[in-house]
Amino acid sequence: MAILAGVMYFTAWVLRATKVSMRALSGIGVLLSIIFATGTVLTACGGQHTPESVAAPPVQEVEAVPTVSLPATPSTSKALPTPADTPVQPASPTPPPTATIDLTVAVQATQTAAAFPPTPLIVGEEQSTVELIPSETATSEPLPTPMDIYSWTLKVPILMYHYISEPPPGSDIYRVDLSVSPDDFRQQMAFLSENGYTPVDLNTLSLAIVNRATLPEKPVIITFDDGYLDAYENAFPILQEYGFEGTFFIITELIDLKSEGYMSWEMIEEMSRAGQRIESHSKTHPDLTLQSRDSIIYELLGSLETLAAHTGYRPRYLCYPAGRYNDETIAILKELDYWGAVTTMNGTWHGFDDRFEWRRVRIRNTTSITEFGYMLDMEGTLHGKPPSDG
Ligand SMILES: [Zn+2]
Repeated sequence: MAILAGVMYFTAWVLRATKVSMRALSGIGVLLSIIFATGTVLTACGGQHTPESVAAPPVQEVEAVPTVSLPATPSTSKALPTPADTPVQPASPTPPPTATIDLTVAVQATQTAAAFPPTPLIVGEEQSTVELIPSETATSEPLPTPMDIYSWTLKVPILMYHYISEPPPGSDIYRVDLSVSPDDFRQQMAFLSENGYTPVDLNTLSLAIVNRATLPEKPVIITFDDGYLDAYENAFPILQEYGFEGTFFIITELIDLKSEGYMSWEMIEEMSRAGQRIESHSKTHPDLTLQSRDSIIYELLGSLETLAAHTGYRPRYLCYPAGRYNDETIAILKELDYWGAVTTMNGTWHGFDDRFEWRRVRIRNTTSITEFGYMLDMEGTLHGKPPSDG
């Protein structure tokens, strides 16, 4: 009975959402149609930038990277005023209304018109033993700005993992270095659990920085780059076992192409439903510092829209492919209303002003559990002051 009611409710919701979106689409008019059509093309085509290291099947020829109709946003975006411009705000995380723009609408339209509805945020009983509720994310609003003149700097180790598996025989030193064995990974998660750490996501970090939302006493963020198959097969079950939330950065086109060694969309959707966080690692993993503006937009907006269609929420964070970025990359991320980005640089303190250059803690094949504990607290005590006032 409850299931039937749920199905009816969901069907009614889909119908209602569809009507709303149709009304919205007709109201917004030609501009949105253009943006939406462009987004659809972007999602449907691609493959030109598939990295050489990945054995991807041949893809359709594409004449050129389509140009996305971005509004001519000045470099100082209204959506994200600088801290000095911002009066003290109430404790509520409700941001002031802002002129955020067609991009957001385009993403919403894509979500609504996707081939399948947004994934209900329900934990499947058969899939997990621990109930994780995804953090509140379905917002088209920009990141709230800091409450004070100065932003709030917080220490939260962001752990960086790649492969969670034994490297295959004959692997080169890079592959070995990027691989943490499932046994070691389990030991590290046990360490976090036994020492009172609480995994959170990047959204929680952002809101804590700008609104001084309360973080758990020993927060940590667990990230996985590239979307390898072993993230689903090895990392996901261990995270579930400990009731931990991880953040997975996905190269969307490699998933679209069903590339060997990578997760499928079904796996990613299952992890998302179970409370794991899915964010962007671009469409094709290029060096963004060598790309044209159009190509960067294709990579960052395209991956965002694809992930939103599959998870039901809007990604907010980028993991720079190969850790490469420059001022233009950051400017475009701001235009697209990303809330932050993580690098491969080493560090544990994070603030509003450096939100597109957040540092991480690299966990290596050789990292011992003693080193692991040390790295979590590498820049002083968890309750100390930041190294500088910046
Ligand atoms: Zn990567």
